[in-house]
Amino acid sequence: MAGFRTPRAPVTVRVPEVAAPNRPWSATAIEQFLGCPLRYWWQRIERWETPSTPALVIGRAVHAALEHLLALPPEERVPERADAYLAEALIAELALVDGQGIDELEVREGSARAMAAYWDTEEPARVEVAPDGLEREVRTDLAGLPFLGHIDRIAVAEPGLRVTDYKTGAPKPRYWWSYWRQQLLYAAALQDMGEPVAEIELLYLKDPRAVTRPVYPAAITRALADLESAHEQRDAMATGGAWEARPGPLCRYCDFQPVCPAQRSAAPRPGTPESDAVLVERGLVQRGTEPVAKQAGDLLDILDDEVLGEEAAG
Ligand code: SF4
Repeated sequence: MAGFRTPRAPVTVRVPEVAAPNRPWSATAIEQFLGCPLRYWWQRIERWETPSTPALVIGRAVHAALEHLLALPPEERVPERADAYLAEALIAELALVDGQGIDELEVREGSARAMAAYWDTEEPARVEVAPDGLEREVRTDLAGLPFLGHIDRIAVAEPGLRVTDYKTGAPKPRYWWSYWRQQLLYAAALQDMGEPVAEIELLYLKDPRAVTRPVYPAAITRALADLESAHEQRDAMATGGAWEARPGPLCRYCDFQPVCPAQRSAAPRPGTPESDAVLVERGLVQRGTEPVAKQAGDLLDILDDEVLGEEAAG
């Protein structure tokens, strides 16, 4: 295709200068930024909303169903209740994407598979949910920076509090640090709020398994260093009006590829009416200044299938 380049070294792209956002960092925002700052700029600063996908809808529905299931008394946490909650969640989630071309059958089948797989990862009746331990929103400062997190589940386990995250995609070893970094930041946030966390856990619902790790101070330090690094890089890029495009596996699934200068030599400058017109033409919508709702399931939930599909095949 004319003007298309294969993924290569990072490219610095000049954009209109804007102040760095003063919204809190979230685990998803950190992943977006470190994955590709230019993509982050489009999504988080220019606030272009990318289309929903079956994987996102599945992630949201399954998360909602599990939240309701775990809120029940332990003896009532049975598959029939989970399936009923999933059916309810699907009605709501599919209504939100009505008319967007989402394959309903794919969503229904994927959700059912994820929910069936859940029962191979744990016995929910044995989970002791901590007070306010479901879909907890945490706001605090980490490394001196405002941080906002949404934690799927906090439970009381043998060694202490355990933070759990549901992953509706298959585990991808290449991104394990990203998965754990998210959990470690949540552990750091809770610790900061006087609730020290002993363990972090990932429940993979595609290739069903539960993976639990102890929380080591050194690991938290590393996660916080990534947060600080992302913040410093973002400030420097915003100040200079020059954002780094980091071509990689993400590009193949990136909604901004048609206007990305790292991919197309003839692409208009990002942020210009010419560039924006292409995005509009492709169905993207630029939000106003309203806060971004939690994208349930987080970016990491869809990395596997939507963003890293080429790896999923391998
Ligand atoms: S196409 Fe690749 S390099 Fe360009 S913005 Fe998207 S992820 Fe970044």
